[in-house]
Amino acid sequence: MDERATPRPQVLIIGSGFGGLFAAKALKNAPVDVTIVARTTHHLFQPLLYQVATGILSPGEIAPSTREILHRQRNAEVLLGDVTDIDAEAQTITAETLAGNYTRRFDYLIVAAGATQSYFGNDKFAEFAPGMKSIDDALELRGRIFGAFELAELEQDPEAVKRWLTFVVVGAGPTGVEMAGQIAELSHRTLRGQFRRIDTRDARIVLLDAVTTVLPAFGDHLSTAALRQLHKIGVEAELGTKVVGVDAAGIEVESGGRRRRIEAYTKMWAAGVAAPPVAAALAGTTGAETDRAGRIKVNPDCSVPGHPNIYAVGDMMSLGDLPGVAQVAIQSGRHAADQIKRQVAGEPTGQPFKYFDKGSLATISRFSAVASVGRLRFTGLIGWLLWLAVHLLYLVGFKNRVTAVLHWAVSFIGRGRSERTVTEQQVVARNVIEERT
Ligand SMILES: Cc1cc2nc3c(=O)[nH]c(=O)nc-3n(C[C@H](O)[C@H](O)[C@H](O)COP(=O)(O)OP(=O)(O)OC[C@H]3O[C@@H](n4cnc5c(N)ncnc54)[C@H](O)[C@@H]3O)c2cc1C
Repeated sequence: MDERATPRPQVLIIGSGFGGLFAAKALKNAPVDVTIVARTTHHLFQPLLYQVATGILSPGEIAPSTREILHRQRNAEVLLGDVTDIDAEAQTITAETLAGNYTRRFDYLIVAAGATQSYFGNDKFAEFAPGMKSIDDALELRGRIFGAFELAELEQDPEAVKRWLTFVVVGAGPTGVEMAGQIAELSHRTLRGQFRRIDTRDARIVLLDAVTTVLPAFGDHLSTAALRQLHKIGVEAELGTKVVGVDAAGIEVESGGRRRRIEAYTKMWAAGVAAPPVAAALAGTTGAETDRAGRIKVNPDCSVPGHPNIYAVGDMMSLGDLPGVAQVAIQSGRHAADQIKRQVAGEPTGQPFKYFDKGSLATISRFSAVASVGRLRFTGLIGWLLWLAVHLLYLVGFKNRVTAVLHWAVSFIGRGRSERTVTEQQVVARNVIEERT
């Protein structure tokens, strides 16, 4: 039989993050056609978003073009589109773009659409305490952070100066800790001596969380070490403290049954995740159950119950107590790809996904990080060197690795920040300013 006459199975992947990209790469030599449909044209290395927000790295270094990454993979196609509907029976997805909607058919579907920020039912907080999930979010935060120092310099009222120089980060997981650590470095080290009226070292950086430790997932030893280091660099950790209100000029908190207010124009939210809207579309068409965060409860092999040709991977799958981290997304994406290859080859499938935990890392400040690898725990410089090695290994693209190292040298060995540019379009806490005028 003429092989060319037989259409190859169509694998459609939603999302170009860790789960989607690594699934596509794992299908490189498989006898299938792969289409990635994603809302952005880049693959985003989210763990370094905080470095874009604080002027260390450029967006391009952590968000290379998906098309460029996959251009040599002949069986892969990349399409821009926001998937709004999935029809499991008709085996189609519908995507929206500025140029109109389109529908694509699939034989196999991998949904790797990640997670969105959760404000635990208080979505109105988002306006004044933005989260950090995308390049746009990081650039918005960059505008707000650098803009706060500029506006403090212009301010006459000492109380308003204090409000501009108070930064509140909500959520003491890795993102919150890294963000707070970097704002502390910015104000106490990088920007020192660059303003004439304000002393940037007066800045207050407050890290808030309802739980009573920082980095709770890292265990007591590393949590305590991280807290000690945060204190050392001037971050005020207010733990056991719940946020009950957020507005333009500050944040209302409650701890020990007492309510109080922290005056601060610049707030950011790094607490809580929820499944993206496309998870509801997937659950609706497949009848899959979802967990409290809206994530799809998958079979042990990452397939959606009752639909052996549909997989949910990464942050939007709910499987045991697997965490929402990059390695889970990479490995589950590869596992789904492997299951599809087996189905195409007529081999038995259903092998459970086994997660290999390679460890957890979080930087606190330059030359200081905490790392947990198997039973080993590292702090300080050794932890930071491990952080450096792992991030270099996983950053996509040789050019990005080289420029990231240069930018890290500028920031960590020197005192500079190569990426402080904020355009006129980028909001310098515009909602705060509108409120005040
Ligand atoms: C600020 C931050 C810091 C982090 N730090 C760490 C860390 O230090 N270590 C760690 O292991 N993990 C970290 N994580 C978590 C890690 O980044 C995620 O677990 C990982 O990115 C999940 O991969 P994913 O493929 O499931 O989703 P993502 O990487 O989020 O990718 C989702 C993809 O789906 C696309 N998409 C979403 N909805 C649609 C739609 N409707 N249509 C089309 N495309 C869509 C998105 O555009 C994106 O391409 C961090 C996350 C954040 C936000």
